[in-house]
Amino acid sequence: MDNINTFRQLYLACKENNKRIYEVALDYEVSQGEYSEYQIRLQAKKSLDAMVEAIKTGLKSTELSPSGFSGNDCDKLQKRYEKSTSVLGCVAQKIMTYALATSEQNLRMGKIVACPTAGSCGIVPAVLIAYAEEFNISETDMINALITAGEIGKLVSEKMALAGAVGGCQAECGVASAMASAALTQMRGGNVKQIINASTLALKNILGLTCDPVCGLVEIPCVKRNPFLAIHAVTASELAMADIISKIPADEVVDAMEQTGKLMSPLLKESSQGGLAKTKTAISLEKNIGSFVKY
Ligand code: SF4
Repeated sequence: MDNINTFRQLYLACKENNKRIYEVALDYEVSQGEYSEYQIRLQAKKSLDAMVEAIKTGLKSTELSPSGFSGNDCDKLQKRYEKSTSVLGCVAQKIMTYALATSEQNLRMGKIVACPTAGSCGIVPAVLIAYAEEFNISETDMINALITAGEIGKLVSEKMALAGAVGGCQAECGVASAMASAALTQMRGGNVKQIINASTLALKNILGLTCDPVCGLVEIPCVKRNPFLAIHAVTASELAMADIISKIPADEVVDAMEQTGKLMSPLLKESSQGGLAKTKTAISLEKNIGSFVKY
């Protein structure tokens, strides 16, 4: 089976074979001869289990990161929701909490699944697991959704490296959001067109997001960016499920993303030389970083 490099090819492969995105992705991987479908599903299950574990541990911990900059926001959000529910409802509440839980675990050097990167690790698990819990989605369907998300990430990575140093945060949290919206739309029973549109809408509306980590740590703004971009994924899925389409096709949006990444100043691509990283407060934190960091 030929590799699928573009969203258009993916759409046609699904249409011609009357298959879902995860089925086409599995067919391709199996055709490479290295792994059976069983082995691939087992690997996806391992990732899923690690995601669940990171959320569980993150929800219970208030341990600060080595810098001391973060680590207790998830706890604050949980306490807030004990008193008053989110204006967005139970699923969104859970999504935001889970995104923070995973992201904070990453800063504690806990085990997380980079999806696609460590800085954006909270987005896919939060959306996938919170929705699955609230709507009793089976493990098989969760794995199908995770494989769907993986295929979306893979297609974007065919065009550009998924790294803040190359494309800014649009290539990390933006792509994570596109992956999460695909997983969510798959679990909600969306068709192939709706899943592709959900990812496209998520990507299109995050173009140009800079990567400007304070003190060079994947911490500020990364941690809080995760709950924001997780909800962004839900918005994209909501629109796509209503058959609202991106007028700019998916592959052209990815092209625009790649171009935007190239046009972005190196000062805003993980170098910590501009944007939030060079604000007065960030500079002051940088000067005192030695007194914050616990070893
Ligand atoms: S701001 Fe940069 S380091 Fe932080 S998550 Fe985004 S791309 Fe990664």
